[in-house]
Amino acid sequence: MVVVIGAGAAGLVAATFARSTGQPVRLLERTSDGGRKILISGGGRCNILPSSLQPERFITDSPAHLMRGLLRSWPLTEQRTFFENEVGIPLALESDTGKLFPKSNRARDVRDGLVDLATRRGVEIQYDTTVNGLRRSPGEGWQIETSRGPLTATAVILATGGLSVPQTGSDGTGLRIAQDLGHGMHPFYPALTPLTGGMPGGADLAGISLPVRIRAKGDGRTRETAGGFLFTHRGYSGPSVLDISDMVTKTTSEVFLRVSWTDRTESQWRDEIAATTGRVASVVARHLPERLAEALCADAGLPPDRRGPELRREERLALIERLTAYALPLTGNEGYKRAEVTGGGVALTDIHSRTLESVRHPGLFMCGEMLDAFGPIGGYNFAWAWATGRLAGLAAGRMG
Ligand SMILES: Cc1cc2nc3c(=O)[nH]c(=O)nc-3n(C[C@H](O)[C@H](O)[C@H](O)COP(=O)(O)OP(=O)(O)OC[C@H]3O[C@@H](n4cnc5c(N)ncnc54)[C@H](O)[C@@H]3O)c2cc1C
Repeated sequence: MVVVIGAGAAGLVAATFARSTGQPVRLLERTSDGGRKILISGGGRCNILPSSLQPERFITDSPAHLMRGLLRSWPLTEQRTFFENEVGIPLALESDTGKLFPKSNRARDVRDGLVDLATRRGVEIQYDTTVNGLRRSPGEGWQIETSRGPLTATAVILATGGLSVPQTGSDGTGLRIAQDLGHGMHPFYPALTPLTGGMPGGADLAGISLPVRIRAKGDGRTRETAGGFLFTHRGYSGPSVLDISDMVTKTTSEVFLRVSWTDRTESQWRDEIAATTGRVASVVARHLPERLAEALCADAGLPPDRRGPELRREERLALIERLTAYALPLTGNEGYKRAEVTGGGVALTDIHSRTLESVRHPGLFMCGEMLDAFGPIGGYNFAWAWATGRLAGLAAGRMG
């Protein structure tokens, strides 16, 4: 028998594919219904896949070719076909973001569809069952310690996720189990998590969102992201912030984020400001939400009614810097409580890249978020969970 631990995105797919090999499969899940991260994903709409995927946007401390090989194991077009034809969920493209969502825009359809498919294929799902330990049986196979007593299995798939949003069921037990069994781990950190900090000019801008470009520098690295930016009550969120947040959470050294609020260059701003005889803030507000325009002018030290001809040189320089390279004040981040994924995890060098079987323990497979790789916002992380879940399921089923 194959036992899959964790009925999240990766575990549901792993169990279905393990069952497709003809083996009996049992799926153990600690919550009463499983797939809770799928339910809250994509703002309740579930961004199930990206329409195209750039593997170089994944982050891993393991050799990148191992991560790329795993992604290639199930091409995006085949993943899409699986969801549309086998799970029975028609998908729709959101053309401005390139994200794929269920046509119904209901994440619940994805979770329920995956549970239904696994059940139809003959997977036995056991909810309200927490796995606390795993050890090799004296003979072949594995002994699994669960909250409902011990179980034995020929092959085990660990699909317990990482540490993000623990109330969905993933509290890191599976990572601890993998570590206790001697697997190499890359240090964990919250990723795709909102950042905290103050507002330009001390204004309350919560709720304002706009497309921006962010350049991050720190820890000897620079990286740029582009996309939506959202002012929250505690700081900043939106894809451009989430995608760069690991630069902040991963290191203890200082990281500097500079934001360009529009795609306008310094000289475009300079020319337009020089040409105005009216209020400078009104020129800025032609291109930015008004409250943000006022706040940036205040942050640059301009009196609210400063007019173009009165603008001093140092005021102009300060304003243009805030418009094109605003130094975002950072106080911290919202951690695992709000992180969409966990960075770090089981070293990809400790699993066979064609099967996801542990190199240390034959018959043990690992998949999903607990592995050392994550992608940006946009359906990348489900693509990872589906692809690695399928690969582990097929390989475990062949030996189960
Ligand atoms: C708010 C939010 C929004 C997101 N939106 C998107 C999105 O739109 N698109 C995208 O691609 N990604 C999104 N993600 C990321 C995505 O949800 C994860 O990458 C994905 O769910 C990881 O799948 P997983 O199966 O590895 O882990 P999980 O989904 O975390 O599943 C792990 C499962 O294992 C169970 N479990 C854990 N420990 C035990 C144990 N000891 N015994 C028994 N069961 C156990 C848990 O209860 C859980 O059901 C989002 C994440 C969050 C938090």
